[in-house]
Amino acid sequence: MAAPAVFTDAEFYQQSFDSREYLKEFYNLSDSQGRPNTFLMQNLRSLCKMFSLDGLKGNTLIDVGCGPTIYQLLSACEHFQEIIALDYTDQNRQELEKWLKNEPGAFDWRPVVKYVCELEGDREKWAEKEEKLRKKVKQVLKCDVTKANPTDPVSLPPADCIISTLCLEAACKDLATFRSAVRNIGALVKPGGHLVMVTVLRETYYAFNKQVFSCLHLERNMVEEAVEGAGFDVRFCEVQSYLPDNVCTDCEATLSLVARRRASNTE
Ligand code: SAH
Repeated sequence: MAAPAVFTDAEFYQQSFDSREYLKEFYNLSDSQGRPNTFLMQNLRSLCKMFSLDGLKGNTLIDVGCGPTIYQLLSACEHFQEIIALDYTDQNRQELEKWLKNEPGAFDWRPVVKYVCELEGDREKWAEKEEKLRKKVKQVLKCDVTKANPTDPVSLPPADCIISTLCLEAACKDLATFRSAVRNIGALVKPGGHLVMVTVLRETYYAFNKQVFSCLHLERNMVEEAVEGAGFDVRFCEVQSYLPDNVCTDCEATLSLVARRRASNTE
């Protein structure tokens, strides 16, 4: 398998991204042969670790490019009161709403929620955590990270923290677009507030359900420089290697990063 000849843009997501198939492919804790989903588990462990850093708390959190998933909010929701989730694609926002409203047929996140509760010290708190998260997500809105104001025409008050997982590398066709997208989403956070990011490194595509999606090939320094260029100081940055065990992707590592927005515009 190889990367698509033309970078798959947001409209391609709107047309071709199957939320249910994506969840089935990437968000079970183990595959049909019982092999553990190490990619997901590593990311859950990183998120748990990042959200236990000093100062990662506040009133509002914005999740940029949430997709149909909630795993990225499971540790986060313990430290913020209100969450706003943003994504370009209608079907992803609808799939997320389905889980938030506890509708029949929503994806079963319980194994993942239990795993995170175990990481946090008490597996039995899973139902409580689900309820907490369902209550805290106040809005699910459309966004485009390539726009100066990603939620245009809506203007959101700047948040205490923004999180973005596996979105910008999928949304940005080149490094210049990536750098400006980091600036665009960076403006959604208050000075002194935090940016939490999980991105894949050295990936050019991922595939599921017979569809192939492009990915911007990133190195650690490119991500760090983009974040610093957007007016943030990096507080935590960790690369974990990942051995692709299937043909779904050529991803080689994930990068987890926490940065703090500088007080004034001393970029
Ligand atoms: N955060 C989720 C989803 C990642 S998949 C996870 O961790 O699994 C990539 C997501 O980026 C998709 O939901 C897609 O709709 C979204 N996306 C693609 N282009 C975008 C753009 N220009 N603006 C906002 N979101 C975009």
